[in-house]
Amino acid sequence: MELYGAPVIGEHGRWLGVVVVMHDVTELVRLEQIRKDFVANVSHELKTPITSIKGFSETLLDGAMEDRQALHDFLQIIHKESERLQFLIQDLLELSKIEQHGFSIELHRTSLREIIDRSMEMVVQKAEEKEMSLVLKMEEDIEFEADTGRMIQIVMNLLANAVNYSLSGTTVTLQAYIENGHAVIKISDEGIGIAQQELPRIFERFYRVDRARSRNSGGTGLGLAIVKHLVEAHNGRIAVHSTVGKGTTFKVSIPLWQSM
Ligand code: ADP
Repeated sequence: MELYGAPVIGEHGRWLGVVVVMHDVTELVRLEQIRKDFVANVSHELKTPITSIKGFSETLLDGAMEDRQALHDFLQIIHKESERLQFLIQDLLELSKIEQHGFSIELHRTSLREIIDRSMEMVVQKAEEKEMSLVLKMEEDIEFEADTGRMIQIVMNLLANAVNYSLSGTTVTLQAYIENGHAVIKISDEGIGIAQQELPRIFERFYRVDRARSRNSGGTGLGLAIVKHLVEAHNGRIAVHSTVGKGTTFKVSIPLWQSM
């Protein structure tokens, strides 16, 4: 709490009283801490791949490249780490754009079926590699008002997570239906699940339940933060239910018409 005081003097120097301004800085302190954590996280996330790229390229230059196998393996690591840097920078730019005031989505009448088909196309290869099935349960197409590109980003991110955090041979089910004037998209997996105490934090920037697992699958830890912003930009809501070892369901609801 910050306190400022000033005397109030009237005519002929008469003392009328004191004005006291109390300023609650709790929120400011909290925001400052979030900002500091964010900068520390970004620095750490950038440093890790750079250290690896530098180390492996130096080892190659020091003579390891004479060994064809080492040359191949190390170049593969360098390539993977550079890709991770690229994804991280893309997500950071995306998040900063979305969080800036003035960010707006372009609303138009669109087809949910088309959004789902295009999102599924982007994860089908990864699902096939893990011998996973993608199942769609949708009776008929749903027309609603949304930003098609942003909606694809939302559905694709949730589908990619469902595939990433599941074991081979399992199924990811996508359901789409109308409920209380909202288009609902539910994505359920039979994956590793998320512990109850972790659930409130998964939409935070850089929060990961298992850092190593997220990294290995190419995750930046920013996907759900971006998804939440995009859902809210559509005046929609996102909810999550999960059981460890059983699976996770994300439910996204978007008003059919924004003027409602
Ligand atoms: P990441 O790039 O790490 O996947 P996200 O922001 O997309 O970042 O997700 C944050 C964290 O939430 C993940 O690291 C993971 O621990 C957890 N998570 C997200 N989706 C799922 C899911 N379908 N099943 C289990 N855990 C998940």
